[in-house]
Amino acid sequence: MDLERKYTWPFKVGLIATLCLVLVWATAFLEIQHNNEQEHYQSEQRVISRSRIFGEYVASTIKRLDEILLDSRQFWTGDWSVFSKYIQSKHENISDIAFQIAVIDKDGRLLFSNLAPATDRTDLSQREHFKVHQDHPTEDQLFISKPLIGKVSKKWSIQFSRPIFKDGKFAGVIVASVDPKHFGLFAQTLKIDNGDVISIIRDTGERMARYPIDESSYGQKLTDLPFMGSNAPFSGVFQRQSAHDGISRLYGFYRLPANGLTILAGESTEVAGLPANEYRNLIIAYVVAISFLIAFAAFLIWRRGEEKQRSERALNIASMVYKNSSEAMLITDKHGIILTVNSAFTELTGYDLDEVVGKTPHILNSDIQDKDFWRNFWSELNSKGSWKGEVYNRRKNGEIYIEQLVVDTIFTKDSDECFRVALFHDVTRDKNNQELILQQANFDGLTGLPNRRLFLEKLNQEAIRSQRGDAKFALIFLDLDHFKDINDSLGHTAGDELLSIVGSRLSQAIRQVDTVARMGGDEFTLILSGLVQIFDVEVVARKVLEQLSSPYLLQAEEVYVSASLGIAIYPDDTQDIEELIRYADQAMYVSKETGRNRYTFFSASMQEDAARRMKLINEMHIALKEEQWEIHYQPIVELETGKVCKAEALVRWNHPTRGNMQPGEFIPLAEEVGLIEEIDAWMLKKVCMDLATLNDVVDEQFQISVNRSAREFRHSKDYIEKLAKFDVPLERIVLEITEGVLMDESLATVENIQKLYQAGVSFALDDFGTGYSSMSYLRRFPVAFLKIDQSFVSNLNDFSSKDSAFCESIISLAHKLRVKVIAEGVETLEQVNWLRRLGCDYVQGYYYFKPVSINEFYKILAKQNT
Ligand code: C2E
Ligand code: MG
Ligand code: MG
Repeated sequence: MDLERKYTWPFKVGLIATLCLVLVWATAFLEIQHNNEQEHYQSEQRVISRSRIFGEYVASTIKRLDEILLDSRQFWTGDWSVFSKYIQSKHENISDIAFQIAVIDKDGRLLFSNLAPATDRTDLSQREHFKVHQDHPTEDQLFISKPLIGKVSKKWSIQFSRPIFKDGKFAGVIVASVDPKHFGLFAQTLKIDNGDVISIIRDTGERMARYPIDESSYGQKLTDLPFMGSNAPFSGVFQRQSAHDGISRLYGFYRLPANGLTILAGESTEVAGLPANEYRNLIIAYVVAISFLIAFAAFLIWRRGEEKQRSERALNIASMVYKNSSEAMLITDKHGIILTVNSAFTELTGYDLDEVVGKTPHILNSDIQDKDFWRNFWSELNSKGSWKGEVYNRRKNGEIYIEQLVVDTIFTKDSDECFRVALFHDVTRDKNNQELILQQANFDGLTGLPNRRLFLEKLNQEAIRSQRGDAKFALIFLDLDHFKDINDSLGHTAGDELLSIVGSRLSQAIRQVDTVARMGGDEFTLILSGLVQIFDVEVVARKVLEQLSSPYLLQAEEVYVSASLGIAIYPDDTQDIEELIRYADQAMYVSKETGRNRYTFFSASMQEDAARRMKLINEMHIALKEEQWEIHYQPIVELETGKVCKAEALVRWNHPTRGNMQPGEFIPLAEEVGLIEEIDAWMLKKVCMDLATLNDVVDEQFQISVNRSAREFRHSKDYIEKLAKFDVPLERIVLEITEGVLMDESLATVENIQKLYQAGVSFALDDFGTGYSSMSYLRRFPVAFLKIDQSFVSNLNDFSSKDSAFCESIISLAHKLRVKVIAEGVETLEQVNWLRRLGCDYVQGYYYFKPVSINEFYKILAKQNT
């Protein structure tokens, strides 16, 4: 196994291929070597046999020559003419081999030559072939000379000679001259290749003849050849580079000891080696080709192996993934019979492999999804081959879970067989989380009602449904009255508790098809769908008001709360959702304005009002920037003396297009949108400046009162600093505040009032009688003046009237608390008289003066002083 792993496919294939290559190359090498040896051997055989054949020929030629010599010697009588005739008669025979027959006398002079004239007596005594015989006068031996240029013939010749005896004594020499070329003629009959050579070498080393013919080589002395020496064999081979032509050759030699000659047949190794080389090249070409084939085959095998290995690896990985995947897997055949499952399946469902194999996935069925669901499932799976979705299944322990399932159909490559693979994981927790997220995104945490987001969604849905079905629906905006008071007095927990009870009471007041939502704070909305008649909305609105009006038990305290409702109808009022919301809100605002604890239907005039308000707000912003304000002073008269000793500063808006506007037209809106503080700040600054201009017509007690809004006291932290900046005696300033300011017992308000009072500022309680009219404020706060609202003053006509009684009791109570009383809106003498009778301190009204400009006011004061 280890070996298997160690010697991988590529390694094995490589090894086998290498072995094959080594084998092929080794065989080729041996074959080449063998062939070389064979060729060499044949070459040896050739040169040996060639030397032998040639040798035999040379030997026989020499023998014939010797016979001619011996024969001729017999006819040598010493007579030139006789011999000449003899030679002539033998001419055919002799000239076959030797071109010259000559006879030399005992002194070495030429006696006869078939080539020379009879008179020629050339001295040949110094010639080797003469001297040999002269020196050995008793020996009758054939002598073969080295090649030399014949003195008579003047051409290259080898002399074959025998001595001539007369009377047993040396009497001369008979010579046959042979052209060395003669030996070559026979060589022609042998197959001689380029580079081949045949030589006849004398035992003393001289070259006698050579084929191919090369006269320059005649007589050359050769040394150190293996056939030289006494122990040399008769025949043999050797290799050597020729000293003559530099060619390397294989030589065969054949010795003719009797003649003192050796025949040398040489073959150029290069030429001889050509076939072997060709053969070698051929073999190499073959082997190279085979090597390529092997390499290619190895490559193919290796690649197939690689592919196999890769697919095996892929299969292994796939099976590993299958086994270890966190995704549960289940494989069935085409009939839905389970073939296998993985361990994640077991973990998720609780079923082991053995428990499910052979069964159908139906064992997981929870019966939660109905038949329709499964019918769709199968029809989609069969038509598309796959299915994806959520399935409610049951674990082995009975627990229901939700799985995210993907089913695919897989067809095998080579058969029509198909499998179904199901992959799934548990999404129960995700689903629950999702639901939680959905809940948080769409529902109000406190009341559990739909929040603003879901409300808007429902509203849009309702609009679409209405457009389709031609049905109307109502949108109700609901705001609790004075909810802030409850929050402030009982705390936020109680506030929350109240909101949650309101939420459940509202839910009970409506039908199932309707929607109640919390928009935030103490604002709720209701959508009443499928309206048949407007009257139905009124019924619900009344029911809501009634249900909300019953007491709430908050922290052991009984609390009463009312609400203001605004109603808009879709599509009667508008078909635009955003507009519908705005209309309901406007109607609700009207309910608030007109006394709260009521419902109001939106009307077109409301929309006009709202548009006007919007316009006015914008204009007020511009007015603040451009200081379009003016002050009118209304003098306040002391009843006892009839003197103007105070005045109230009243703001006027010098509007560029609408002309002079009364505070009633814009102060409430300015208060609502928070612009009042800026207006009041401007007023205070201006009043302080005007006080300075009035200095010369008023005494030190003269006071001017300015109206202040409740907001200012709550927000401003540096009231005193603001006043100090104007450099006026603070005793001259009266701040007119309403009960609303005093009702707000927040720390900032109380502190501000205390500080101002200590700094010398006086306070007047304005519009007394219209609000709570609680005298307790007079006790708790340092109020110097109380202003009876003009609505009471206008009804002062007889003692029995309630208003007279009210005024009287207020005046007497105020006096007891050392608070002076100012009556507002005094228009008639009758009223003046009444007030005087009741003991009122000051009066302010048209009966005396209307509010006037600073210039007018100055004049009034100046006139009074004269
Ligand atoms: P208020 O403080 O009660 O002012 C008295 C109002 O009664 C003034 O109305 C005045 O012109 C009017 N008036 C005086 N005598 C008579 C009379 O004999 N008959 C009738 N019918 N009316 C009389 P005005 O100037 O229209 O101011 C209305 C209210 O606007 C003021 O009521 C005050 O609450 C508010 N206001 C005026 N100026 C300012 C201001 O500068 N700041 C603030 N915060 N409020 C102001
Ligand atoms: Mg006033
Ligand atoms: Mg007033």
